[in-house]
Amino acid sequence: MSQRITIVGAGLVGSVLGVMLAKRGHRVRIIERRPDMRTASISAGRSINLAMSDRGLKTLELAGIDQDILQVAIPMYGRVMHDVAGNQTYQPYGVGTQAINSVSRGELNKVLLTVAERHGVEILFSRRCADVDLATASATFEHGETGEHETFEADVLFGADGAYSAVRQRMTMTDRFDYSQTYLPHSYKELHIPPSADGGFQLEKHALHIWPRHSYMMIALPNLDGSFTCTLFFAHKGSPSFDELKTREDVERFFNEQFPDAVALMPTLIDDYHTNPESSLVTVRCYPWVANNKVALIGDAAHAIVPFYGQGMNCGFEDCRILMACLDHCNEDWTSALALYQDLRKPNGDAIAQLALDNFIEMRDKVADPVFLLRKSIEGYLHATYPDKFVPLYTLVTFSPDVAYSEALRSGLEADALLAEIMAMPDVATSWNTDAGKRHIDAIMQRRQPVAFASGMPA
Ligand SMILES: Cc1cc2nc3c(=O)[nH]c(=O)nc-3n(C[C@H](O)[C@H](O)[C@H](O)COP(=O)(O)OP(=O)(O)OC[C@H]3O[C@@H](n4cnc5c(N)ncnc54)[C@H](O)[C@@H]3O)c2cc1C
Repeated sequence: MSQRITIVGAGLVGSVLGVMLAKRGHRVRIIERRPDMRTASISAGRSINLAMSDRGLKTLELAGIDQDILQVAIPMYGRVMHDVAGNQTYQPYGVGTQAINSVSRGELNKVLLTVAERHGVEILFSRRCADVDLATASATFEHGETGEHETFEADVLFGADGAYSAVRQRMTMTDRFDYSQTYLPHSYKELHIPPSADGGFQLEKHALHIWPRHSYMMIALPNLDGSFTCTLFFAHKGSPSFDELKTREDVERFFNEQFPDAVALMPTLIDDYHTNPESSLVTVRCYPWVANNKVALIGDAAHAIVPFYGQGMNCGFEDCRILMACLDHCNEDWTSALALYQDLRKPNGDAIAQLALDNFIEMRDKVADPVFLLRKSIEGYLHATYPDKFVPLYTLVTFSPDVAYSEALRSGLEADALLAEIMAMPDVATSWNTDAGKRHIDAIMQRRQPVAFASGMPA
């Protein structure tokens, strides 16, 4: 039966959810705090980009818009590490044409808004959710210009209003609602590498660039106009930290010492550093995600995670896909479907939150470590030689949308034990790739069963 649905927040997840629910015949209204980004003269700023991988694409495919998005995306087939001397090392992300895709967050959001409207979704802008009645799924919004309050009734209400969700905030006031919000000691700042004079890319276009520096790092993702968006992930306080780099001289000295090859490509570095905000990195965990069978959290509102696995949006899109599968499975009975959605997604939200925190250490520290690079080579060999018995963690998270995040986390822990056993062989760096080394690995692999993974879909 067609439901009246309110979605709070027309960000990436709210817009996709709107498309998918409207396609099922529901009457969907999305209400967004900001003005319409397609017409408003909001400060253009620099282009912020995100890595879209197979989980996100699989949802967009269901919504019928994956090809539109891929046309404005740049595939990145691997990571390029830059050391302090400017030497570069390349590591593929997967095999063959497996890639993650750099997409402009703003452009993606604009496309999604237009597609939602094309499917009959009503989108109201400049209205901030001020209160939610969890018993009736109605919500009250304050208009950004007039200050007027309006209340909208619905049968079902979704909080897709991001990491600092007002809907979730209302749920924290109910009994037995678990909630935690944890900040990293690091924050981030966006910086910029422009296109070359002839409009080309100044670094390898089809790669994600990383300058790993142990306790901090800078990354860069390509944009369609030939520029790169750089992000410095750096301690908020201490030494070195954002707090320590105050003057022009401080910034110049630090970047020249640590990122000399990048500085040469960043003519607006000092202005960008001083103009662009320092933003914090938060992990939010909460439970339950559903109140009174009619109000539910989705996307960052349910599980804000740090960005180091490039999965926040991908996971939010996956929430939408699994919710649709729950509605199918429960024959459109919303009470059962929302309960099933929560049961299936909560463990996966927790798993990707943990994987994302762990991957910060890998990106900033381990990718430059010879032992880690050796492990990656052995992992590649295991996957190629025993594909039914070993799949690398990165492949499970990024290129395996039919494997639940919680299964990827479990498999990653098992892989740690396996790799520890293989890497305990004497002189492993040189011996693993010899005939004797491969016989030793084969004996270990013969003892293992083929791997099997649950999908996280309703069974
Ligand atoms: C630096 C950085 C890099 C990232 N990189 C990646 C990446 O590479 N890959 C990836 O998958 N993810 C990445 N992410 C995560 C990704 O940006 C988020 O997971 C994604 O934007 C979540 O979408 P959402 O719709 O749930 O929330 P949001 O995108 O935050 O949208 C929430 C919407 O709700 C609106 N809203 C908020 N409060 C109210 C209110 N009270 N009333 C009405 N409307 C409201 C907001 O204006 C906004 O439009 C990154 C995040 C950061 C910070």
